[in-house]
Amino acid sequence: RRAPAVLAQLQARGRSFSAEHIAVRRVLGEGSYGQVFEGTLDVGAGNERVVLKRVKSRVQGADEMVQMEHLINVYASKAARGSIAEFMGFCEVERQQANGNLTPGLWLVWRYEGANTLAFYLRRRDGLRALARDLDVPEDLVIPVALRQVLTGLAALHQAGLVHRDVKPLNIIVSERDKRLKLIDLGACADLRSGTNFTPDESILDPLYCPPEQYVLPTDSPHLAKSVIAQAISPVLWARHKPDRFDTWSAGITLLCLAVPSLRTPRGLAQFLKEFERSNYDLDEWRGRTRLAGPRDLAPLDADGGAGWQLAEALLRPRSVEIGDDGSVSFIGSGGAPQRISATEALRHRFLKRAAQLEKERGW
Ligand code: ADP
Ligand code: MG
Repeated sequence: RRAPAVLAQLQARGRSFSAEHIAVRRVLGEGSYGQVFEGTLDVGAGNERVVLKRVKSRVQGADEMVQMEHLINVYASKAARGSIAEFMGFCEVERQQANGNLTPGLWLVWRYEGANTLAFYLRRRDGLRALARDLDVPEDLVIPVALRQVLTGLAALHQAGLVHRDVKPLNIIVSERDKRLKLIDLGACADLRSGTNFTPDESILDPLYCPPEQYVLPTDSPHLAKSVIAQAISPVLWARHKPDRFDTWSAGITLLCLAVPSLRTPRGLAQFLKEFERSNYDLDEWRGRTRLAGPRDLAPLDADGGAGWQLAEALLRPRSVEIGDDGSVSFIGSGGAPQRISATEALRHRFLKRAAQLEKERGW
């Protein structure tokens, strides 16, 4: 009999598949770190469509990265079931088993749920209409429904002590099977309870979706950094520093991209960020000055007494660093303004009320 600790470690690894049962079919996508394919997995009673990911071998520390992503997927697939792509397990391809695209190394395996990311929809002229159709929701509700599904995933991850750190339309898929948005790409996701995939000063983040404070925890607190690495962040430290607010900023940017067509290109979004910073992160001030968005673009946010606008404002508040009397360092809201809200708080916002009713009717 194996010792419980060893057993737990084995279980934590998820299911293992043999390379002979896997075939790589076509490229689905590629990010800075990973190459992703559609393929099939022979499950005995026929083939199942799957998504296969390997970390590019040229990337420095590739092996360790894919191991981290693996561990996080095992944990997150339990914590946020239904809101992140369904993780199935892994396959270790030995040198002699390699063939064609199935190269040696550790591969991660998800159930195939669809090939399109939210970015795919937002690149299209009729993107929101197509998204409404594929999510099977009325077009006037597609923005709140989409945002609500993203926030639901984030709330579940945060509840489990995870911060995704790379929330953006390219890392959100439309599940054809479940007709809902799901988060993918946990490659940068940090487990702050165990310290898995977290080093305090790393910056592997997309600057277009990253909050101005840039980090999930203040980096100038050696005490805090050590405590995270040594034994994980305690609920008290989580409550004080609110590392989850990193992701809610990215959700706020995603909301703006959903509403405002000119922000859907990297160039447009970069321009927005420049202007927003110059407006001291005051959305009203930005609006008065910008040429990126007119009243028609902002109409979905202005409807219902500006419900969406108000929610965007609450998700896109800057945070600044405060040094306490005891020398401790925290992120706080700026200039005495209220703090950026959490995913759970955002889910209670009236902008999402009708979307919540719709989801409830459908038993989601
Ligand atoms: P990276 O860490 O390099 O950004 P991702 O995990 O984001 O890698 O995968 C890169 C791309 O592959 C995604 O933007 C998406 O287009 C596609 N992709 C990844 N996972 C899935 C999935 N489960 N289902 C469908 N497409 C996926
Ligand atoms: Mg990605």
